[in-house]
Amino acid sequence: MRQKIVAGNWKMNNDKNQTEVLISGIKEEIKDLSLDNTRVIISPSFINLESAVKSTEGSSIEVVAQNMHQAKSGAYTGEVSADMLKSIGIKTVILGHSERRTYFGETDEILAEKVNAVLENDLETIFCFGELLEDRKSDNHFNVVESQLKNALFHLEAKDWASIVLAYEPVWAIGTGETASAEQAQEMHAFIRSIVADKYNAEVAEAVSILYGGSVKPANAEEIFSKPDVDGGLIGGAALKASDFSAIIKAI
Ligand code: PGA
Repeated sequence: MRQKIVAGNWKMNNDKNQTEVLISGIKEEIKDLSLDNTRVIISPSFINLESAVKSTEGSSIEVVAQNMHQAKSGAYTGEVSADMLKSIGIKTVILGHSERRTYFGETDEILAEKVNAVLENDLETIFCFGELLEDRKSDNHFNVVESQLKNALFHLEAKDWASIVLAYEPVWAIGTGETASAEQAQEMHAFIRSIVADKYNAEVAEAVSILYGGSVKPANAEEIFSKPDVDGGLIGGAALKASDFSAIIKAI
């Protein structure tokens, strides 16, 4: 049975103290939940990762990074490597978020290199992709999503997919308050699973968790998560409040 995942992407929010407060709040809210087959993930900024790893020890919360550089080490001012992340206990990295693509020029080609670096380092990635509003309006959203996956992931071997989690995030729904309907999410997730099955096989397609992201909140989480091909969510704004984030966890 494939894993369900609720992941909070904190983006560039929360200083050291706020990070600790939010982690304590989430721990308290979810302490009595039975999380069978469900992973709870948070992704604070790089600077707070180590303290977050320490303060979630022994809890069911996993701490992941929001990005990683593809090179092993060297003259890349301001960047963070796989070895650095592993040395503080990080096992998973978010890659390809639309904000990285839009504001930091990350292309499918760069992302393919980052994915390779993740795999070479025995890490896992939550790989984000999704169409712009103009793509959807021009009915090009399936093509865009297919090419994002092909360019960044379809050079992988079937076995590599054990380290891949997909996160479909239509860019028009991120931080806008506008959510894809549960039907739109299901339609795209089923499409994604079908192209993974065509490229690899049914087993790989059935095993990969596909998260939806884009204005998920307590009020809409249950409906979105009820769809058969939606295995959870990547949550931005609503992950910054312990009560909202835990309500979304409960919805799964
Ligand atoms: P949002 O962000 O939930 O604030 O729309 C989602 C994301 O960027 O992962």
